[in-house]
Amino acid sequence: MTTQVKAPAKSGAPQGATAVVRTVDDLRAHVAAWHGQGLRVGLVPTMGALHHGHLSLIDRLADHVDRVIVSIFVNPAQFGPNEDFSAYPRREAQDLAALETVGADLAYLPDVKVMYPQGFRTNIHVKGLSEGLEGDVRPGHFDGVATVVMKLLMQSQCDCAIFGEKDFQQFAVLRRLVIDLDLPVEIVAGPIIREPDGLAASSRNVYLNAEQRSIAGQFNLVLADLRRRAMAGEDLRILEQEGEKALLAKGFDRVDYVRFCNAESLEMAEDLTAPVQLLAVAVLGKTRLLDNVQIG
Ligand code: AMP
Repeated sequence: MTTQVKAPAKSGAPQGATAVVRTVDDLRAHVAAWHGQGLRVGLVPTMGALHHGHLSLIDRLADHVDRVIVSIFVNPAQFGPNEDFSAYPRREAQDLAALETVGADLAYLPDVKVMYPQGFRTNIHVKGLSEGLEGDVRPGHFDGVATVVMKLLMQSQCDCAIFGEKDFQQFAVLRRLVIDLDLPVEIVAGPIIREPDGLAASSRNVYLNAEQRSIAGQFNLVLADLRRRAMAGEDLRILEQEGEKALLAKGFDRVDYVRFCNAESLEMAEDLTAPVQLLAVAVLGKTRLLDNVQIG
């Protein structure tokens, strides 16, 4: 197999075709060839339906590595029985075209049978960080995420991987996984990319109808107001309750949580003496919207 030597994936740099592989052997052949040339390889794990949030991760990762792989895999193990696994948007042709435009070097699109061959038994659980918040609403979700990301890191043998801060708890779980298992992989965080009205970009935003989409634009404004008031010294528990009420008043159907957390342990923050992150999930119809803001 020959691999193409070209400029690293980076917007504005000369861009070539994005190679597509679907098996671990083909993936590793590309990576081995790059490593043989002394190149550093990075991975952007995604579930596809790519938007500008995903593309920003590719751009950012290109500052850290010479070659960028993007994996697209809608991971059944991280969806609960009543969640949207079968309805989750799948847009392979559009995604590959987008990867070509931003100059990603390789797309890895494994089939479920490649990822979970018959007899697969292993589960990775990152204790504590996988519980609470999303972990309470979506039991087993972070085991599914940790297990598939561990596999993607092992399959690709990448030197570096990037994850978005939009999924803040997921980032905390995966950072811990890499530390605890001594994985030789640098982990990079990508800041949240937002739509012009402040809504965090998400593959699930396509589920929103026009009315829901307009309500969704209020989410980040409510969090920004809570942030301002927290920094002015107001009580964090009262702010959480008022934030929930404010979101319901704006038209959200349900609020799963509004929580000021320690930015590393994700335990409930009592005050702002250590770094704090405000994490929230608000729901419109069946669509759960995640957002978070740094306090201080
Ligand atoms: P997903 O396809 O939803 O599994 O997301 C793949 C990666 O993209 C994860 O690391 C997400 O945190 C990240 N991501 C998704 N949306 C955004 C966004 N709006 N800004 C930054 N990163 C994002």
